[in-house]
Amino acid sequence: MKQIQVSKDLAINGAAPAFDQPLHVGRPNIGDRDLFMKYAEGIFDRRWLSNNGPLVQEFEQKVADYHKVKHCVSMCNGTVALEIAIRALGLTGEVIIPSYTFVATAHALSWQAITPVFADIDPVTHTLDPASVRRMITPRTTGIIGVHLWGRPAETEALQQIADEHNLKLMYDAAHAFGCSSKGTMVGNFGACEVLSFHATKFFNTFEGGAVITNDDDLAEKMRLMRNFGFAGFDNVVHMGINGKMIEIAAAMGLVNLEAIDHVIEINRRNYHLYKEALSDLPGVSLLSFNEEDHNNYQYVVMEVSEGSSVSRDAIIEALHAENILARKYFWPGCHGMKPYRELYPHASLLLQNSEKVADRVVVLPTGTTMSKEMVEAVASVIRVLILGNA
Ligand SMILES: *Cc1c(COP(=O)(O)O)cnc(C)c1O
Repeated sequence: MKQIQVSKDLAINGAAPAFDQPLHVGRPNIGDRDLFMKYAEGIFDRRWLSNNGPLVQEFEQKVADYHKVKHCVSMCNGTVALEIAIRALGLTGEVIIPSYTFVATAHALSWQAITPVFADIDPVTHTLDPASVRRMITPRTTGIIGVHLWGRPAETEALQQIADEHNLKLMYDAAHAFGCSSKGTMVGNFGACEVLSFHATKFFNTFEGGAVITNDDDLAEKMRLMRNFGFAGFDNVVHMGINGKMIEIAAAMGLVNLEAIDHVIEINRRNYHLYKEALSDLPGVSLLSFNEEDHNNYQYVVMEVSEGSSVSRDAIIEALHAENILARKYFWPGCHGMKPYRELYPHASLLLQNSEKVADRVVVLPTGTTMSKEMVEAVASVIRVLILGNA
C-alpha cells in the first residue's frame, strides 16, 4: 500500500494543513454563559443546593414535556439512572442487552449481580436484532434493555412483542437519544421506561447527569424514593435506596442547554450533511444514515469502513490523528470482549458476529457546536485524500 502523508499532499493541492488545535469527538455543547451565571446566583441566594430544589423540578418538567412523557426523574448520572430503573423494575437473573453499546449498560446490571446476556445487533441499524434476542432467552431471563445507539431508536415494536410473549420487562438505554423520535413517537414512550444521560460529551449535558423518563406513575414514584435513600418524609424510610439525586447547579446547566437545543441540532444536522455530501462517493466508506422524517440529534457522525476501502479503519484513524483530528473507534471491541465480561463469555463471538464486524468498522468523526462548516469540510477532504490517494 502506498504511504500517503496527508498534510504534505493537501499542501500540494492547496488545501488545509493539519489543525493546530486538536479536534475532539464529543466536545461539550454549552449554552448561554450569562444565563448560567444568573441561575447560579439564584442557587446561592436560596442556599438550596440539592434535594429536589426548584431548578431540578423545573428541569424535570421541561424534559418531560420535551419528550411528551408524564414523568422525568432526574439523577446524578446516566449509570445510576440505569441502576435505579433496573432495580425499580425488579430485574434479576439474566437480562438481555446488546454487546455493542457503552459498557455502562452491562455494568449497571452486573453491579447488582444480574447477568448481562449479550445479543447481536443488526449490521445496518447497529441496534438489537430481535431474532438474536429470541435466541438468548432462558428460564432465568427477566428483561431486555434495548439501546438507541447513536440516537437511532431500536426496533421497539418487535422488542415489545418478544417481551409480551415471554412475560419479560422491557426498558431502554436512551443515553444517546435525547430529543429523538421513532415513527413520530418521542423517545421516552417506549417500553416501561427509558434512561437518558446528560454527561458532558452527550448531545445534551448537565455537566454530569441523567434521568429516567416514563409514563408509569408507580414506577416514577418508586424511583423518586430510591434516588433519595428511600425517604418518604423526614424520618420515614420506606424503600431501600441510594443517593442518585441531581444537584441544582446541574439542573441550571440543563435549563441553559435546553434553551440552546434547536441551535445545537441545527449545527449538528448541517455538519452531518456536509460530511455525507463530501464522503458519499468514496469507495469502501459510508456514513450511518438517519430517518430524516423523525427527530434526530445528529450527535454522532458514524463512518463505516468496509473491506472495499483502500485504507483500513485503524490506518484511517492513525492518519487522522496525525492531522490532529481525534476521530475515534467506539465501543470497541464490544462489551463481550472487555476484561470483566470476556471470561464469562468465551464463545460469545460465535453468536455476536455482527457486533464484532461493526466494532471493527466504525470511526466516529468530530462534530458539535465547536466545528465550523470549514472545519468539517477540511476533515472530509483529509479523508478524501487518504482514500483516493491510496486507491
Ligand atoms: C454515556 C452512556 C451511559 C452512561 O451515562 P453516564 O451519564 O455517563 O453515566 C450509558 N449508556 C450509554 C449507551 C451511554 O452512551
